[in-house]
Amino acid sequence: MAHDTTPQARVAGGDATGIPIASGKSLLRPLKAAEVVARDVVRDITANRLAPGDSLESEAEMLQKYGVSRESLREGLRLLEVQGMINIRRGPGGGPSVGTVDPGNLGRVEALFFHLAGATYQELFQAWILAETTLAGLAAANEDADLRSERMEPFLDRDAHRHEHQELADFVEGHEGFHAAVAALSGNRVLELTFRAYGQLVSHHVATVGDPRPIQDALVETHLGIAEAIIRGYSDAAGQLMREHLEEVIAINIEQLGDLVAGPVEWL
Ligand SMILES: [Zn+2]
Repeated sequence: MAHDTTPQARVAGGDATGIPIASGKSLLRPLKAAEVVARDVVRDITANRLAPGDSLESEAEMLQKYGVSRESLREGLRLLEVQGMINIRRGPGGGPSVGTVDPGNLGRVEALFFHLAGATYQELFQAWILAETTLAGLAAANEDADLRSERMEPFLDRDAHRHEHQELADFVEGHEGFHAAVAALSGNRVLELTFRAYGQLVSHHVATVGDPRPIQDALVETHLGIAEAIIRGYSDAAGQLMREHLEEVIAINIEQLGDLVAGPVEWL
């Protein structure tokens, strides 16, 4: 069967592969000891208003405080470490410290779900367009005009973002920086986190599988147009320009992913 691999392709339900998506029966599942520890550590981070890099208590102190086995404590901390929410330095002078809240890590968790459910890259791209156009529209609708200008003005400088021989990692980080700035202007942290996870996931996979740098000048140019629309408060235009921008990026992705596009999202 031939697959339509254009960005406009709309895959309803995708291929009939993968594990069926459950109806949510695990909603009320009781937490395991390690999850309880993880939850309590997170509560303490919030209650004590800790910031990234701040040290957490030592293992000995936590063992006493939470009253769990060493095994459960370590498993609980590991759960948070995988999400990037804490960092653990091993060895003398090491210990756990507060990490970050990074949609990239949420994207990795989602990739696992998407992969097992058999969700395709086409479905991911469709979701990504929906997500980023919504964020761009909300960013332009942000009532704080000064904030819109402040956050978007750095992206009006063409030359600062054009580096012909930029390292791939720097390019991806720079590109993501623009989309993160747009998302932050949306004024909704739930949307910012969940919607940005798609973009992070796409970027991670594209940088792993292919190389988006050949079109970077065009991307800088479209970022500029989106930034201008957001500054002027043109919500529909910002959304539309974002859509066109992503379709451009997706066209490159499709070329580089080849047959993978119609297959399930990989858990990389
Ligand atoms: Zn972009």
